[in-house]
Amino acid sequence: MKAIRFAAPLPTYLLTLAAGRLSPRFYVGPLACTRYGEVPDPALPAPDWVSVRTRLGGICGSDLAIVTLGASPSTSPFSSFPFVLGHENVGEIVELGADVRGFDRGQRVVVNPLLSCVPRAIRPACAACAAGRPSRCAHFTDGALAPGMFIGTTRGVGGSWGECFTAHASQLVAVPESLSDEEAVLVEPLACAVHAVRSHLPPAGERALVVGAGSIGLLTVAALRALAPASPVTVLARHVFQGEHAERLGAERVVIARGRYVDALAEAAGARLLRPVLGERIAVGGFDRTVVCTGDSRAMEDALRMTRAGGTIVLLGNAVHLKGVDWAPLWLKELTLAGSLAYGAHAHGGATRHAFEEAVALIAGGRAAVRPLVTHTFPLADHARALATAADRGGAHSIKVAFRPGPPAPGPV
Ligand SMILES: [Zn+2]
Ligand SMILES: [Zn+2]
Repeated sequence: MKAIRFAAPLPTYLLTLAAGRLSPRFYVGPLACTRYGEVPDPALPAPDWVSVRTRLGGICGSDLAIVTLGASPSTSPFSSFPFVLGHENVGEIVELGADVRGFDRGQRVVVNPLLSCVPRAIRPACAACAAGRPSRCAHFTDGALAPGMFIGTTRGVGGSWGECFTAHASQLVAVPESLSDEEAVLVEPLACAVHAVRSHLPPAGERALVVGAGSIGLLTVAALRALAPASPVTVLARHVFQGEHAERLGAERVVIARGRYVDALAEAAGARLLRPVLGERIAVGGFDRTVVCTGDSRAMEDALRMTRAGGTIVLLGNAVHLKGVDWAPLWLKELTLAGSLAYGAHAHGGATRHAFEEAVALIAGGRAAVRPLVTHTFPLADHARALATAADRGGAHSIKVAFRPGPPAPGPV
């Protein structure tokens, strides 16, 4: 099959690093870490697995970080090379292992790509998995598969930047007929937002700030509006077109991150600004809860500045090395800083529900109008244009860019 795969033996890594600094188009090519071409179809690892033909494979910020060699070295033990990229997905089942029940050939599914204890055939499951927190699994490097946290960073199972990939039956989530492929490919990133919001749900009346209005920021706005409707949401966006999406998704206020945006944020939060001897002003009062949805230093500084004393900052963006951040507000205001990764099960309304299933239900029920967020799709062979479009949000007005690996498929689109 055709696929985009990643491997990083040291000479290739160094060559890609040097060439990529000259031009981003050199990050993908026949001599680079990321290559497009023919790879073997992934075999079913066990009889309780299926093979899925990819209909759409989304491009995540974390994928761009892998391609441009910007991912944190801390994540490397939780992957195995070479791997086919792509964890955001929608596809249809083309092969069922003998032990798979409840799914049919041809059925449309989204795959929860987390490779925790159950897909790894580890019994009994670790304490985190048993408690419905598979993102904290203790066994991402153990069991029947090569090391890896996700389909899309793990050798041997394929990924959604390929024509097909494999998945354990426990990872399959049926896609209702009413969902388009574009909506379905957003289930995985929406599930990340649902997990972050459910884990730190603002009580009624608390004011939330979302820093960053790329796909994950906008999906966080959608999740906050659906799950915490009595909490007004302010969004700090880099681009005007992102702000328009945020307003459409229910943000009460959008602030564009230029000029005197700190004054606008303070006004939205009902905060006072104090001027230090040097540098940007700091707020007294502020937002109760801030979700940081980008990985840059300024986003973290804005969050530290604009969150009220005793408030909570949730880090959902892929922050790695934050240069020059003044962390003093963290202790000065007794803030809580919490990380959020992937998805898990959450108890609410008398039941426990997985974030993946809740994400499907929010879209299917019309409570998260996410379809316009898929702004571009490309065939795999057009990878250079796809990755450039995903990276150049301001120029291309891109939110979510996805690969369409196969020929146009019949069925709902
Ligand atoms: Zn992702
Ligand atoms: Zn586990």
